[in-house]
Amino acid sequence: MIVAEQKPLEDLQRMLKGKKKVLAVGCGTCVSVCFAGGQKETRGLAAALQTAAAVDGEELEVHERTVQRQCVQEFIAPLEDDLEEYDAVLSLGCGVGVQTMAERFPKTRTLPGLDTNFMGQPTEPGVWEERCVGCGNCVLEYTGGLCPITRCPKQLMNGPCGGSEGGMCEVDTSIPCIWSKIWGNSENLNLMDMLMEVQPPKDWSTSRGGAMRRTVVRDDLHQPNADGRTTTTEVAAAKADAADGPEAEVEAPPADPNAGAREDAFLKELGLS
Ligand code: SF4
Ligand code: SF4
Repeated sequence: MIVAEQKPLEDLQRMLKGKKKVLAVGCGTCVSVCFAGGQKETRGLAAALQTAAAVDGEELEVHERTVQRQCVQEFIAPLEDDLEEYDAVLSLGCGVGVQTMAERFPKTRTLPGLDTNFMGQPTEPGVWEERCVGCGNCVLEYTGGLCPITRCPKQLMNGPCGGSEGGMCEVDTSIPCIWSKIWGNSENLNLMDMLMEVQPPKDWSTSRGGAMRRTVVRDDLHQPNADGRTTTTEVAAAKADAADGPEAEVEAPPADPNAGAREDAFLKELGLS
């Protein structure tokens, strides 16, 4: 899941300075599991912002909505009808959610309410740890499912550096040496022979470096429309153009009245509430 944290209230107040009416938009997926941008957090933040504005003698009305997935255009489409009445949207989605909102609604100022940290997992109550940097060329096959790129500060690919002590990393003694863990479990997984093979230099061309990585398109999922425009935004715009009116835009799922209950059940299932 994507792990994020709410920006400090002062930063949000600064961003919203001069705005009178704002829509805070939460996301019911990853950021609700890390308690940053789900329905409860969005509601709480809306109230906190209004209270802070009142204390400062400013006028600010903050409404809130939570969509199930802010990074998918079809899920945010129902917001469109009301957006005109707001001076800005405060997105409590991850950076992808913010950008999906900004691209879908280019006439509305979309502001980020969260700092997006990494792809990770909850390891104990209140703690989330990074597990993947999306290198685009996964090596977990020969490391027993543990990622040395994310979890070894030296990003070593052929075994430990030799500096670990008591199974802890020499760079950061608060974290386990992931190579100790990989070796420690290799016998169980029958991975010893594979680990003794020297891995060639990793192909970093698929990783983050310099420019945007493009979506990997799967042929079985990719269905270009007739005129060759394929993104959801482009398809929606093309449909509206063709039918001569915004009412003909891509069909959106209706607002989900059970989003809150489902979010609660999801968190409960994960043992987080
Ligand atoms: S090897 Fe790459 S894709 Fe696989 S978990 Fe590590 S960072 Fe993620
Ligand atoms: S001690 Fe282990 S995790 Fe830390 S840098 Fe060395 S090999 Fe990597």
